[in-house]
Amino acid sequence: MNREDVKTCPKCGALISANLPRCRQCKAYLHGTELEGFLLEHLLPARLAASPGTGIFMLIIMGYFALMVMFAGPLSALSLSTFSAAELGSTWSPGIFAGEYWRFVSSSLAHGGVVHIAFNLWALTIAGPVVEEAFDRKKMMLLFGISGILSMAVSYVVYVELLGHTIHQSVGASGAISGLIGGAFVVARRMGPAGRQIEHAMWRWTVFMLVFGFVAPGVDNAAHVGGWLIGAGMALVMPVGLTQTVAAQRALSVATFGLLGLVIASVALMLMHLKGFPASLENDAEPITILGMVVKPGAEWDYSDQVTSIRDCQDALDAANKSGTVTDAQLYSCELALRINPSPSIYRATAHLEEARGNTARADTLRRVAARLVHSPR
Ligand SMILES: [Zn+2]
Repeated sequence: MNREDVKTCPKCGALISANLPRCRQCKAYLHGTELEGFLLEHLLPARLAASPGTGIFMLIIMGYFALMVMFAGPLSALSLSTFSAAELGSTWSPGIFAGEYWRFVSSSLAHGGVVHIAFNLWALTIAGPVVEEAFDRKKMMLLFGISGILSMAVSYVVYVELLGHTIHQSVGASGAISGLIGGAFVVARRMGPAGRQIEHAMWRWTVFMLVFGFVAPGVDNAAHVGGWLIGAGMALVMPVGLTQTVAAQRALSVATFGLLGLVIASVALMLMHLKGFPASLENDAEPITILGMVVKPGAEWDYSDQVTSIRDCQDALDAANKSGTVTDAQLYSCELALRINPSPSIYRATAHLEEARGNTARADTLRRVAARLVHSPR
């Protein structure tokens, strides 16, 4: 058995090389649906064609970051504030408490700044092609996507449900990339002596990731370890090599399009959540830093938008209680304040105003979040 095996084209019956993406004779696309063949050949830049799955995720990750910078402003490219990251798709516990589960998908694509995204893209170009070469484009994409989404869920469960953090935020494709490293490590082991070099390289990356994670502050180790184990587990059970049967190809195509559908839906939900609200603060108390250097000093806490927004919501609550009616502007100032300062009291104040406006479901959600922000499970 080797990669140059011949097979017959399932469409026209011509004898062709088993790895050929298109039949020489009838031009049918053989590595999935005709739609995939069309998209890959017409939309993917030629430079990325050698590892299309890796290339597609590089484009998605860069596109998502461009979207974040577009909304949060050019300076945010250096380092996004906690507020901007939460508004633009991070795993943000008050949002998850409110049922924003799309954050598990968007957070695995979003990044916190140029250094973060550059490092992850570099690691993706190293581990991605290894997994793609060993399996195929679609199995690599599923491994990357599923490791990313589930690693964010693991991180949430570990930090919020097990360790009892009430405010938890995480962002980045590192969980997905750890999945690729774990997957590449397992598949290299499955290859035996031929995979020894890759196995050692992936082991070095794993050790580096663990040491870096426990030395550097703010690293989501739960997402890294969770992603690694999920990727390794998938690589252990997935059949190696190009999928040859038409039925299996179709199943993988459906799963891959399903994954891309989730990605698109998470971006759409993030934009709907953002609609009408700012993505960055003018007077943020959090300074913008890059590699430990302050690029833009934060506003003094007393004069920051954090404090101003709390005051605005309190004023709105007082005015609404006095007049007995709630205006759109009053409601908005509290809905904005809870995005900036996720404290139980602001959630309860906003719930009060929403209730008065007849938005019972929203009020219930906000009260539920307020309760979660007070009582940690441990
Ligand atoms: Zn053919």
